[in-house]
Amino acid sequence: MSETIPSGVYDAILFDLDGVLTPTAEVHMRAWSEMFNGYLATVPGQAPYTDSDYFAYVDGKPRYDGVRDFLTSRGITLPEGTPDSDPAEESVCGLGNRKNDAFNAVLERDGVAPYPGSLAFLEATKEDYKFAVVSSSKNAPAVLAAAGLSGYFAVIVDGRVAAENGIPGKPAPDTFVRAAELLDSTPATSIVVEDAISGVQAGATGDFGLVIGVDRGVGEDALRAAGADVVVPDLGDIEVAR
Ligand SMILES: [Mg+2]
Repeated sequence: MSETIPSGVYDAILFDLDGVLTPTAEVHMRAWSEMFNGYLATVPGQAPYTDSDYFAYVDGKPRYDGVRDFLTSRGITLPEGTPDSDPAEESVCGLGNRKNDAFNAVLERDGVAPYPGSLAFLEATKEDYKFAVVSSSKNAPAVLAAAGLSGYFAVIVDGRVAAENGIPGKPAPDTFVRAAELLDSTPATSIVVEDAISGVQAGATGDFGLVIGVDRGVGEDALRAAGADVVVPDLGDIEVAR
């Protein structure tokens, strides 16, 4: 079912990145696989890391927790290290930082294609709306560049910008509010587009004009319960009145 955005009501669209514009989860899965299999090859008697391991021990967790929980599943205990640990170090944080390097390498080597429906939506709305990306990721500019989307976004409020400016992340609305300000817009005249519960909550508690939930697997009921005004399976299902 398609939904229509009325014309003349909103002037800005604030997009989440991972899962809204790009299928970044696939890049993360490849990076985890390359990192863990590189490491396991140096440990005698270990079977390769697989996608089943990803879903069982890594998916959805903070990076270092994913490393620790997977290693535990293999009976491996490493020192904790620190967030500043060198990626070459054999520690939980070292392997986690190694995964971040692998993510950037996979992104650079393989690229990531935007969702076709999202690209079409950007093209259909770019004349009438100002755009920002609001992402918890600290890799947002690199992901946008790899997807060929950098040219659409003059404003990016990502995890790095939030940390540098002391802005609380989602589900707090502050990163979206900052993006609206930077676009010379207001929450009331801005549209938030999100695929995660925490992001939809940020849009709802920030009193944004419209919160669009993109259901990539979270489920329509859950997105609506979090505060989405509209839920679609893909941005290609949104029509824009002109
Ligand atoms: Mg997302």
